[in-house]
Amino acid sequence: MLESWPMLDLTVPAAVALDLAAIGRFASARGWVPATSGNFSCRIDAAHAAVTRSGIDKGNIRPEDVIAVPLSGALPPGVSAETPLHVARYRHDAGIGAILHVHTVAATVLSRCDSAGGYVELEGFEMHKSLRGVTTHEGTVRLPIFANDQDTGRLAERIEEAIGAEPAVPGYLLAGHGLYAWGASMADAQRHLEGLEFLLQCSLEERRLRR
Ligand SMILES: [Zn+2]
Repeated sequence: MLESWPMLDLTVPAAVALDLAAIGRFASARGWVPATSGNFSCRIDAAHAAVTRSGIDKGNIRPEDVIAVPLSGALPPGVSAETPLHVARYRHDAGIGAILHVHTVAATVLSRCDSAGGYVELEGFEMHKSLRGVTTHEGTVRLPIFANDQDTGRLAERIEEAIGAEPAVPGYLLAGHGLYAWGASMADAQRHLEGLEFLLQCSLEERRLRR
């Protein structure tokens, strides 16, 4: 019922759609969003975000593939099934400007290997400094892992409750599924995504060599 769709009069700003298309090409070129997987979003204002449509090639996001969604209330049809995970993050942290989700090999494999412990531990990497507020390679970064769930509304509630108001790391893993990362802007979110993915790839390589 179109009458019940709350977003009919809100269009996605062109700059937001272009940002999402650019991050889609970036991730697709690296093989991080195979087989139409992954999803990306950008905050429009205090009450709305733009999210990629379900089932599209993220290397070729067109303006009509980006849908404006309210951060509370019913979601419009056609949005990614994982939109509740994005919406919940925006709702719980007003400082978040963009959220990126990819299905990389390193994130998928390590989130399975370490799921029992609840996090992937990353220690001593210079790349820690890609993360907000981290100024040294010394210390440990623990990237949380949550069990996957096809009920993404329920999953979002569980995640938001667990990570609290100020998560130590701007991202998390879903076991056997992929990586979420966010930031105050699209550039911050991309830096966090790249940094976390690099750290996961290093960890995966190290484990292979040490077997
Ligand atoms: Zn996913």
